[in-house]
This record gives sequence, structure tokens and C-alpha cells, in this order.
Amino acid sequence: MASSTQPTVPMVGFSGSVAPDRSLINTCIHCGLCLDECPTYRDLRVEMDSPRGRVQLIRAVGEGRLSIDDQSFRDHIYLCLDCRGCETACPSGVKYGSLIESARVQATQIGNIPTGLKIANAVLRHIFLRPNYLRLLATGLRFYQRSGMRALLRRSGFLRLFPGDMEQAEAMTPRMSSSFLDPTDLPLVEAEGPRRFRVGFLTGCIMSVGFAEVHRASLRVLARAGCEVVLPPDQTCCGSLSLHTGDRHTAREAARRNIDAFHAADLDAIVVNSAGCGSTMKEWGELLADDGRYSARAGELATKVREFSEWMAQIGASPGGRIAERVVVQDACHLNHAQGITRQPRDLVAAVPGVELVEMDNSGLCCGSAGIYSALNPDLAGRIRDEKLAAIAATGARTVITTNPGCHAHLRAGLEAARSEVQIVHLAEFLDRAQRSV
Ligand code: SF4
Ligand code: SF4
Repeated sequence: MASSTQPTVPMVGFSGSVAPDRSLINTCIHCGLCLDECPTYRDLRVEMDSPRGRVQLIRAVGEGRLSIDDQSFRDHIYLCLDCRGCETACPSGVKYGSLIESARVQATQIGNIPTGLKIANAVLRHIFLRPNYLRLLATGLRFYQRSGMRALLRRSGFLRLFPGDMEQAEAMTPRMSSSFLDPTDLPLVEAEGPRRFRVGFLTGCIMSVGFAEVHRASLRVLARAGCEVVLPPDQTCCGSLSLHTGDRHTAREAARRNIDAFHAADLDAIVVNSAGCGSTMKEWGELLADDGRYSARAGELATKVREFSEWMAQIGASPGGRIAERVVVQDACHLNHAQGITRQPRDLVAAVPGVELVEMDNSGLCCGSAGIYSALNPDLAGRIRDEKLAAIAATGARTVITTNPGCHAHLRAGLEAARSEVQIVHLAEFLDRAQRSV
């Protein structure tokens, strides 16, 4: 995450405490080994849309050679997926995620961000942090998706009248669940058999209204593994979408609310089944380091955050059941590159009797979802997804396992558009299905 300390030598183009750190910029040795791991560079072949080029843009602003309100700065910085594939590839240890996120904080401070993102940030700030408002919005969206209005609007061509690619952006919207998961209705799930652990569970924003069935599967799998699961009713969106777009203020507010919600629950772990949320919650300590009231609790709770597969592996849970299928695991960027987790989901899937686990080419490449990126940049996100779908198809797998709602919705939309028979499911759904098969 963005450094909260001042660089040793002031950088003239940036202001405030969250500025890109000059020492991080200087770790880039321009070797170019990151270029082929960068989805935007692979597609566009533009140096400024590569990790190396973006580091140089940030350096140029810091040295006063480029104004932070320059449009090219905005365009290239916001065309980055923040997938952090470059961070894994970089032999010099460039902390690219920290650089890009602090550069976006700076751009947000002066309002030099794309118009679509301004609207998205307002929605995230005013609706996603208020679960009642979010459920209201999701109810309207569900009606639109299921009543025939969506099909009618698509057939009419009405969406093509809007600026930008509204039609493609609309296609990227996740399908709303038939029944949302509201933690006030389900504050506790008992362990099946003797209780081994007491864990918290983040219901989040999109997961609770668009992937409620994934949550229910996760709760069943956790309960069978001997976990009593606490769902604090006052929890809210984790703020990761805001953090990645540069709205650090909203991300900090989300972190405070969730820390208040989870802190008193006396938990062994906080389990998170969305890779993007888990990676942000593990950074709570850094995010609130300068907040006198919250810094200690933020650091303490961050150490308890466990991504779903990470927790299942840690407690030695055995999946059981049987599924006779060829399966491929899709690495969510915020699981693989941000949390360094790749082995645990594969081990869990491979432990299900009957499974033939295969690998896709370039599994570390982003699928193009990247939070709200695919809705804001549907053309490029669609082309990046095409490469991922081709890699999946080449494996011959019938089932793709994911661990992140953005990837789930984005890849599912692509598979449906291609009328593919390949199914994408969350890891928890897959384990739940295996366990229910016996
Ligand atoms: S974060 Fe992803 S899209 Fe952005 S520069 Fe790195 S590899 Fe490219
Ligand atoms: S791999 Fe690392 S050091 Fe090399 S150009 Fe990319 S960011 Fe710079």
C-alpha cells in the first residue's frame, strides 16, 4: 500500500502524506522483464502502458517534468489494472502496487481522474458502505435483469446511444442473487460436530448481493470443518474497490467500520472468500497507521485475516466427496500477486477424489476484471479476457475454479457470450458440491 511516510527528498509534483516513495521508484532498473507479464502492454504495445513506463511517468511528476493534472498521466495511470503481475515478475523488487495506488491517491486529490470513475467512486462511497442502500440498488438491478427489461433494452439498441461503450459495460454487471445474504439475519453459524475454531466472516458488498450462494456454500464448508462462524451485523464493504481507485478516504472509513464490527468477537481468524477484499484487509495496519484511535486494533486484526483457501489449508481441512472432472484453477491477481497464495486452492481441489487438475498457460496473467475496471474499460478488458478464455479452452477443463467475484462475473460473462459449456465456480462451491455428493 501507499507509503504514509514522507520521501527523504521531497518530490515536487506530489503533496500530502500519501505520495509515491522516491526510493521505490529508484528500485526500477529499466530491465523490461515485467513487460510481457503486463496485460495492458501485451495488448497495446505502448511503453507508457507498461509497468516500466508508468514508473517513469510517476518519476516525471515527482521531479516536476510532468504536471500531475496532465491528461496523459491520468490516462496511463488509470489504464493499469493494478493486477500487480509486474510485481511478481520484477527481479528488482519494485513495489508497484504501492506506487500506483499512491499515484492514484494524488490524482484523486486534484480530481484528475476519468469521469466514469468519479461516478463510480461516488457510488462506492455513498451506497456500498451502506448495506441497506446496496440491497435496495441490488433489488432494482435484479428486477431489471430478470423481468425481461434487460433483454428488451439489449435488443432495442438503446444502450448504444450512450457515450462510451455502455452496452459492453452493462454486460459486465454481475447477475444479482435470488436471495441476498444479510448478516443481520444470520449472525452466527454453528460448527458441525465439535467446535474447533471460532472465525469471523466478511459478507462484503458485491459478494453479499451477487454471490450470496457462494457465501452460503462457504459457510457450510467452514461449519463442516468445525468452525463456528460469526457474521457481525454491523460489518460493511471492505473498501478495496475504493482503495484501488485512489479513494483512500473511503477505504479508511470502511476499514474503521469493519474493525469496530469484528474487534469484540474474540476470533481465531477472519475468513474472507474474496481475494481482493482479503488483500486489502491484510493491509489494515498500514492503511490506518497514522490513526491514533485505530492503528493498534487495525494491526492486530489484520494478522487474523485469512483468505478462504488459506484458512482451510491452515486448519488441515480435508474436502472429501467425489467429483470426476477435469478442473483448472484461475489465479485471482489479488490472491496470487498480492497475497502470494497459489498452492492452497490447487491442493484443496486436487484432494477431491476423482478430480483431474490441469494448468493453463500464463495462469499468472490478469483476466481483465480488476474490480470496476472491466465496466470502465470494457473493450480492453474484453480483449484481455479473450486471452484468458483461450488458455482455459486449451486445457479441455469443464470447470474453472475462482476465488474472486470480479473474475467470476467477468469470466462467466465471457463464457456465456461464447456459448461455452465450461462452468466457472468459486472454490467454496466446488468443495461444497463435492462434500454433498456423498
Ligand atoms: S499492475 Fe498489471 S496492468 Fe498495471 S502495470 Fe503492472 S502488470 Fe501492468
Ligand atoms: S521488471 Fe522491475 S526493474 Fe525491470 S523494468 Fe519492470 S519494474 Fe523496472
